[in-house]
Amino acid sequence: MDVNHLREQFPALAQTLGDYPLCYLDTAATSQKPKQVLDAINHYYQQDNANVHRAAHQLSSRATVNYEAVRDDVRDFINAGQREEIIFTHGTTEGINMIAHGLTAQIDPGATILVDTAAHHANLVPWQMLALRTGATVVPIPLDSHCRIDLQAYAQLLQQHPAIVALSHVSNALGTVNPVTQMAAQAKAVGAITVIDGAQAIAHLTVDVQAIDCDFYLFSGHKMYGPTGVGILYGKYAQLDRLTPLLTGGEMIKSVTFEATEFNILPNRLEAGTPPISGVIGLGAAIKFINQLDKAAMVKRENELLTYLQQRLLALGDITLYGAHDDNIGAVAFNLADEHHQDVGILLDQQGIAVRCGHHCAMPLMQSLNIKGCCRASIGVYTNVEDIDRFIDGLISVKELLL
Ligand code: PLP
Repeated sequence: MDVNHLREQFPALAQTLGDYPLCYLDTAATSQKPKQVLDAINHYYQQDNANVHRAAHQLSSRATVNYEAVRDDVRDFINAGQREEIIFTHGTTEGINMIAHGLTAQIDPGATILVDTAAHHANLVPWQMLALRTGATVVPIPLDSHCRIDLQAYAQLLQQHPAIVALSHVSNALGTVNPVTQMAAQAKAVGAITVIDGAQAIAHLTVDVQAIDCDFYLFSGHKMYGPTGVGILYGKYAQLDRLTPLLTGGEMIKSVTFEATEFNILPNRLEAGTPPISGVIGLGAAIKFINQLDKAAMVKRENELLTYLQQRLLALGDITLYGAHDDNIGAVAFNLADEHHQDVGILLDQQGIAVRCGHHCAMPLMQSLNIKGCCRASIGVYTNVEDIDRFIDGLISVKELLL
């Protein structure tokens, strides 16, 4: 896999910021987009722009065919059982809200909802809102001292027979990976509905939802080289079919009178209104882009790069790494001595180096680490060794300035 050839396909990476070439280490926030994704979106707007599922004209039928073809691409990409189990959303956040809203009538007061302590707020706040509506209780699944889910504590919590278990596949803040297949099986054994936030896993791992055997799996297009504004809610057919739709209106109905409305069947039932058509087309192109790669080689290269990044960070001294392991995916979280993460980020940015600084939408995780925030460097398929070396050199100069 020739990373420099790959980089040429990402126009945004070719820019300079002041005197510095861009060093983009913020892929976990959003990935850069390859030209084939940008071209697909352009093509849709220039040639096929029409609403889907509605009109009898040729543009609309072309748009509909292309849009629906992506549903099959996504089905194959995550090995879902059937195309109706793929719901287009605007992103992971919307998908989790759809589930939390949709389950309201099924959750009894007194029910328990287990949530990964490292969860992104998108996989916590909707459950808190569900708990407020129903009288259920949200219970954190604790982490061990290595920032991994404490599997013993998890097994004990399962004895409370939770109604829902909400997990991250990969932590966005730390890059730690949860053993979701094992955890989903344990949850299933006690009758819990399993929801897995795959936003940070989807670009880096091969995801097989039938092998994981979860009830729901979610991700966003923009973190897998696709556009913003589109995401996927995967659910087992029966589970999706039991969700009360969050959005109602056009497209999701079978018949409407002033007296009553009958909802459509899946997937339309959960896709009210005009969907993110260009986003879906772009997502389809992103899937084609990923499918062209040698996935095993990509995973191996990203793992080696992340290990190199962790080793170089540790060798710097005055660095605290959070939750760093051999098998982390995509991201490394750190602080420089007791310097404020924001100061470090701003000084890196002055050298053209983009990292994320803050609480990473994971405030409970920050509280458990006893920090207000940290810096996160994250990588993608286009990241190369020079990026890591530039970042380390940048950090050395920040260290000289601040310490
Ligand atoms: N979950 C995780 C693990 C994330 O990293 C993110 C985004 O950073 C989200 C959920 C929310 O995704 P989106 O903003 O695309 O809805």
